[in-house]
Amino acid sequence: MPARIAALLALVATAACGSARTSPEPLPVEAGLPAAPGEYGGAVDVLHYDVELSLGAPEIQGRATLTVRPNGAAELPLDFTGMGIGAVLADGRPAGYDYARGKLTVTLPRGQGDADTDVVVEYFGTPDDGFVIRDNVHGDPVAFADNWPNRARFWLPSVDHPTDKATVSLTVHAPPEWQVIGNGALVGRPAPAAADALGGGEGRNTWRWASEVPQPTYTMVVGAADFAVESLGRAACGNAPVSPDPDGCIDVSFWAYPEDVAFARQVFDRAPEMVDFFTRTIGPYPFAKLANVQSATRFGGMENASAIFYSERAIAASRLGEGTVAHEVSHQWFGDSVTGADWTQLWLSEGFATYFGALFFEAADGLDDFRERMERSRQSYLRSGVTARPIVPADPPENLFDLLNVNNYSKGAWVLHMLRGVVGDETFFEGMRAYYERHAYGTVLTNDLRQAFEDVSGRPLDWFFDQWVFQPGYPVLESEWEMSGDGSEVVLTVRQTQSADWPTFRLPLQVRVVPGGAAGDAQDETIELTEREQMFRISVPREPANVRIDPDGWVLKG
Ligand SMILES: [Zn+2]
Repeated sequence: MPARIAALLALVATAACGSARTSPEPLPVEAGLPAAPGEYGGAVDVLHYDVELSLGAPEIQGRATLTVRPNGAAELPLDFTGMGIGAVLADGRPAGYDYARGKLTVTLPRGQGDADTDVVVEYFGTPDDGFVIRDNVHGDPVAFADNWPNRARFWLPSVDHPTDKATVSLTVHAPPEWQVIGNGALVGRPAPAAADALGGGEGRNTWRWASEVPQPTYTMVVGAADFAVESLGRAACGNAPVSPDPDGCIDVSFWAYPEDVAFARQVFDRAPEMVDFFTRTIGPYPFAKLANVQSATRFGGMENASAIFYSERAIAASRLGEGTVAHEVSHQWFGDSVTGADWTQLWLSEGFATYFGALFFEAADGLDDFRERMERSRQSYLRSGVTARPIVPADPPENLFDLLNVNNYSKGAWVLHMLRGVVGDETFFEGMRAYYERHAYGTVLTNDLRQAFEDVSGRPLDWFFDQWVFQPGYPVLESEWEMSGDGSEVVLTVRQTQSADWPTFRLPLQVRVVPGGAAGDAQDETIELTEREQMFRISVPREPANVRIDPDGWVLKG
């Protein structure tokens, strides 16, 4: 342990003894458990989290002020676990509470009606999960929140479920050698902490970040380290409604450890270009800035709203890829702004980020690059052990981390690619913009996506989403062809030979009739499969050299 951390620990411990510690640190609940039926979606609504944290020691101190709309509820059930509690207040008065089994249930004042209530929780302890306090890959002390999927509860008393999005402001007191990143816009400049700051002000700086648009708790973070911070440029100019900057653009930056600046410059170089591409393709940039942060997250990349956290090891070893950067940047729209209302809807975040990440490279680097990425996704799905399960399971898995599988990523990306193939480019991108505009800052189910595309295309699409999202598997196609007796037609037979447990797919399918030698252009026809075996007759001027099924790769098939 570095000496200055030990000294700070002693300081913090002394300061903490002065405040009441009514509930010592209990054992934490397990991470990643799915919600119990009816656990979320009750009347009470958290509107805002105002979080104050004291960092710089293994133990943190926190004060969370939640602005809550009771909607008639008598109590506020918060997720919180493994931390000690100093005080709980409601509208400035000590409030009754029960703290057990991962829930801090606060009694709300009576007779409030619909008036908003401020609930304050003062707490302390060493988070058991969801907040990493340790030395980084270079041996220097760092502190990072790492919440996905429901690990904010280990350091932040919260309704830790994506149904209840809220705005957040963060005040962090940290050692002066640390830079502190958080969600939203920097408020003022970092300044020496007040003498009575939480955890003691001496020898620390206070940083403030605030976001005025709602986000899910799994993206509410702070990160603190000795960072080198560099701006990569301006982006989303004129299309960044919550940017605080007078030029109407956002700042795109990286926050990297000093040892890794050269690689960070390289791998994040096109991040502003990515922001501009997604802004044009999807809609206005939803947040106040975009920081790309080297961090202690357990994931390769974590799309925290306006402050993406990347694996410190991937950056230190120069193996973070631009594909991950494009994926995480597109999550700002899909995942952070438009959020799945339930964890089983994860493909609405990960499938979208996988596909839109690839779309950036289609636009920037060309069709071959895009097709290689999609082919890698296809192969990873076909080789996986999850093809017998649908993307959206009927029930959540026993552990939410099990959702991080290629159904949500690779197959999800292919569902969007196939949707594009079915409705065509123009309708696809119009549908995406409509879906985004309708649900920005909100929560969605797969049916909301279907509805948006049905509205824009004027076609029923329940069959499409049902077979690809709610049913398992993929089609395995076999085809053969011969000439008709009079030589005027290709007679094409196509069979779906996938498992009988999987659906018989309805597949609009491109067929390319390739003439022999120098006998003119290929002839493209569209057929629609609806049966396990079907025959199609295609008029041709002469016998072709070849007949190819889905030549441009629009269908996920084995
Ligand atoms: Zn992702």
